[in-house]
Amino acid sequence: MSDISGTPITPVATVTRLADYRVPEFLIEKTHLTFELHEGYTDVSSRLTITRNPQSVKADRLILHGEQLELLSLAIDEQLLDDEDYQITPHNLTIRDVPEQFVLHCKTRIYPEKNTALEGLYCSSGMYCTQCEAEGFRKITYYLDRPDVMSEFETVIVAREGAFSTMLSNGNCLSDTVRDGKRIVHWHDPFKKPSYLFALVAGNLVCLEDSFTTQFGRQVLLQIYTEAKDGDKCHFAMQSLKKAMRWDEQIYGREYDLDRFMIVAVDDFNMGAMENKGLNIFNTSCVLAHPASTTDAAFQRVERVIAHEYFHNWSGNRVTCRDWFQLSLKEGLTVYRDSEFSADMNSRAVKRIEDVSLIRGVQFVEDAGPMAHPVRPDSYMEISNFYTVTIYEKGAEVVRMLANILGPE
Ligand SMILES: [Zn+2]
Repeated sequence: MSDISGTPITPVATVTRLADYRVPEFLIEKTHLTFELHEGYTDVSSRLTITRNPQSVKADRLILHGEQLELLSLAIDEQLLDDEDYQITPHNLTIRDVPEQFVLHCKTRIYPEKNTALEGLYCSSGMYCTQCEAEGFRKITYYLDRPDVMSEFETVIVAREGAFSTMLSNGNCLSDTVRDGKRIVHWHDPFKKPSYLFALVAGNLVCLEDSFTTQFGRQVLLQIYTEAKDGDKCHFAMQSLKKAMRWDEQIYGREYDLDRFMIVAVDDFNMGAMENKGLNIFNTSCVLAHPASTTDAAFQRVERVIAHEYFHNWSGNRVTCRDWFQLSLKEGLTVYRDSEFSADMNSRAVKRIEDVSLIRGVQFVEDAGPMAHPVRPDSYMEISNFYTVTIYEKGAEVVRMLANILGPE
């Protein structure tokens, strides 16, 4: 492996330190993405409205994150850039002498069929799916892929007509049309979000629909998408979702904010579940439940995980983390919230005993061994390694301690 200057690269692990945190030098006001899904490859065109961050010291170059991307074209304010205007390394794209405010057009080609890391956009069994937390978005396009850069996203998905029954992204659906043998679906998420909450799904799925009326009388369309074989096993998840939405209103006064809330449950999603804004993606094990084949414990797990990801809409998605050192701030708080929800829905005493058993049986062991780390680490080499019982369950106990001392208010 070598970088573009021909210097051999030794894969050395770099350490990210909290003490080195700096505000971003640039902000991305608007993000417009077009995905053209082809057999074998996908072209991603991005149109980013970028401004210099007034809170940052002046920098004359823009450094974007990006990994394993094939750059097809790059333009600033419609002006195509030459090779000498930018530099590409395995992890970054650096553009020299950028103005205070500009629109960056970037076209990259990616290969979801060959993506076996299951980060970014990948295709498995003919179905396209994303996983961007924590740093997967940089495998889709060049971007400021950090939680403190929040942008309004618009996403257009283009595919051959008839290729997929379902083409989803975050937010509300603006249009769904067919033109010249292509199906074009246009999504818009009005709420600014970090790139790790971006999601796209394209596949042949069936849908269970329901609706929810919020505390202020707004109608929200609820949809759970699955493969046809699993269509009859989503009713419990739907009921759990509605209970979670009502509970968050009653206990925290938090109302759902988009016109629709979508859950996709597929075998080919490798993480447990992911709280992408308006489009949660789950492994089927966390959604499907049927009285003939599901145990009581598994029913409770579905109820808890559905609620956990839904609750992230406020603890994580609308109220965000500044950086990944604050991971426990969204996960600990959300585990505390889902734990309280489970206690209210079932037995509070039993739930408390379960949580304490988990802490003592698993987290104490982690804390006593070489994996020990604080809920807010000072440094990391790979943030993906910090999705631990310490960050989640001990983090939740810290939140519980604060709630006990300060009171629910
Ligand atoms: Zn979570």
